[in-house]
Amino acid sequence: MATEMSCVWMRRILLRSNALPLQKTPMASQFLKQSPPLVIPLVSSHRLSFSTATACSLPDTLVSIDDDDNCNFGECGRVGGSNKGSKVLLKGMRYDELEKWVQSQGYRPGQALMLWKRLYGNDIWAHHSDQLEGLNKDFRNMLRENAEFKALSLKQIITAADGTRKILFTLEDGLVIETVVIPSDSSRNTVCVSSQVGCGMNCQFCYTGRMGLRRHLTAAEIVEQAVFARSLLTSEVGDITNVVFMGMGEPLHNIDNVIKAADIMVDDQGLHFSPRKITVSTSGLVPQLRRFLRESNCALAVSLNATTDEVRNWIMPINRKYNIDLLLQTLREELRFKNNYKVLFEYVMLAGVNDSIEDARRLADLVQGIPCKINLISFNPHSGSHFRPTSDEKMIEFRNCLAGARCVVFLRPSRGDDQMAACGQLGKPGEIQAPILRVPEKFKTATQVAV
Ligand code: SF4
Repeated sequence: MATEMSCVWMRRILLRSNALPLQKTPMASQFLKQSPPLVIPLVSSHRLSFSTATACSLPDTLVSIDDDDNCNFGECGRVGGSNKGSKVLLKGMRYDELEKWVQSQGYRPGQALMLWKRLYGNDIWAHHSDQLEGLNKDFRNMLRENAEFKALSLKQIITAADGTRKILFTLEDGLVIETVVIPSDSSRNTVCVSSQVGCGMNCQFCYTGRMGLRRHLTAAEIVEQAVFARSLLTSEVGDITNVVFMGMGEPLHNIDNVIKAADIMVDDQGLHFSPRKITVSTSGLVPQLRRFLRESNCALAVSLNATTDEVRNWIMPINRKYNIDLLLQTLREELRFKNNYKVLFEYVMLAGVNDSIEDARRLADLVQGIPCKINLISFNPHSGSHFRPTSDEKMIEFRNCLAGARCVVFLRPSRGDDQMAACGQLGKPGEIQAPILRVPEKFKTATQVAV
């Protein structure tokens, strides 16, 4: 997919590399695989108009540079980047695609439905052709030869003090992604899925953004995060009812695979999530946002985080391409065609940057006329960040100001932050990182940058 951003600063470098070191768990050991070359980013800061505090150099192992932004793994169901190149990746197909493929192999559509139910329903969540009890033997043999059941290998599960689980998965090419399961006291349990390895948006308050974009995830790799969450944790935390695309990556930068994955998740013969309980978040890729609202019934969250272009240009560089006015105007236009639909605005509160009462008043004005809810989110500190979280008192004051202006607003406490499982804390930046942008003069005190 060609990128829509003007501030593209990533190039993809194919490196000869061994798989990342894996921490073996009993469940993981059976799935460990060899890795093909890694795809990692080159920070090309000369393409930006801002300064960088991050030095970067080319690794010795550079073998080729690919300047486009296409995904290494396609949108088809074929397994990419592995020695299983000729096998079909079952979880990369919508039901109608699976049915067609099963028929093309000489089997009845009914067999496709039975297979689908074993992949996604009846508490089976088949990861292997041996888990297809009840299916015709020939059909199972055909699947063993021609189909791949798994896109992810479990690496590790980390439990935070509040019960939030961070699940690490290794991909076919050795890269690692993180998925978070957030249990709650009510019947609502949420899985937060990743849509990319790393992220190319470089939001300044986000640890994942420091990684840069390594690659998009396939639909199968996204779907399987939800399947694993259900199969591993339902017995411990109860049914996983909600999915949020708020893990690693900008989901709408990988829109084809994200829409497809969401379609697979809502299928009522399979995982059967309610479309309104699947929320896709975006930093504000306007054309993709427009397309998403037209093509999907799932919910949309927009990560706003600022009330002026000056601040948003700095903390979310995507704003230089699609500014606040354009973003909100697009929402106003598109939501006219949706019934009973509210967009969720996320607002990460950064002390001294975007948390003044003037910001609260401006925010209330900005969202006028847009059916919406606003979530105020505590900033979760991480190494290398110079932002500070807003105090609880100030968050309450900010919330009250919005509520007084008749906004629907919620305070969202951090979950899983002691294990780097909270919002904006996922991933592991390597030595080559996205640039830290120059802090505007008037925010240097607030961000603890030497004046
Ligand atoms: S906040 Fe989201 S879009 Fe921004 S860098 Fe982090 S993962 Fe990417």
